[in-house]
Amino acid sequence: MSNIQDKVVVITGASSGIGEATAKELAAKGAKLVLAARRENRLHKIQSEIESKGGTAIYKVTDVTSQEQVKALAAFAITTYGKIDVMINNAGLMPLSPLYERKIKEWDTMIDVNIKGVLYGIAAVLPSMRERKEGHIINISSVAGHLIGPAGSVYSATKFAVRAITEGLRKEECINNIRTTIISPGAVASELPETISGLELKTAIDEFYMIAIDADSIARAIAYAIEQPSDVAINEMIIRPTRQE
Ligand code: NDP
Repeated sequence: MSNIQDKVVVITGASSGIGEATAKELAAKGAKLVLAARRENRLHKIQSEIESKGGTAIYKVTDVTSQEQVKALAAFAITTYGKIDVMINNAGLMPLSPLYERKIKEWDTMIDVNIKGVLYGIAAVLPSMRERKEGHIINISSVAGHLIGPAGSVYSATKFAVRAITEGLRKEECINNIRTTIISPGAVASELPETISGLELKTAIDEFYMIAIDADSIARAIAYAIEQPSDVAINEMIIRPTRQE
């Protein structure tokens, strides 16, 4: 039996890309999934696909910018399955733009989803994990959480923040047997570039994404972190396309 069998895993941003691929990978390995995102039709379809292959999944429509909704998501998981073993804070968006364009609404959204959404996810699961003296929190950062490019200041700031928060969490909670993992993907084929509103920049990013790897590559890395024995914590992984500079 794998170390993933029967683990209860909550995934935010599970309606597409990395979240969807991770849900399917972990379901195939016997995890009990709790899928969260805003688009219910997508979540329903993914749940059906998982179940048709013999997997176990439930979903709850959740906007991670609402602390109440994220709290309700964790409560739903615990009511249904009795516990949360793994929380994957994956929901995110990347509306890149130069600072001078002052797309302040997009900055706010990035901060709300990419940073506050992760914090709300941590807040929602930490009490029950502490009580059980067991748990695993996986936060999706980015290569942009290690370096900054033009038009990427705010996105990078959010992804640097995810790494800072996760490392702080590790220092505080390792004593309570709670594992933390930072996942930093490079270019991964997904809907993420669609959040870029500037046409010229979107075209440039689409070109850059020609080398993008499948979301499955990230799902496998996440599964690897989860399936380690409970006294082993994979604290950070960077996964790039081989040809990404
Ligand atoms: P996608 O755009 O395919 O997926 C993003 C997911 O986030 C969707 O499921 C979306 O669901 C969800 N989401 C967005 N806003 C909210 C919200 N307010 N509340 C709940 N869910 C929300 O992109 P990826 O799969 O690529 O992105 C996943 C993560 O990976 C992000 O954090 C991203 O920054 C990170 N990443 C991606 C890279 C890439 O190259 N693709 C590289 C590095 C990091 P819905 O719209 O249904 O709510």
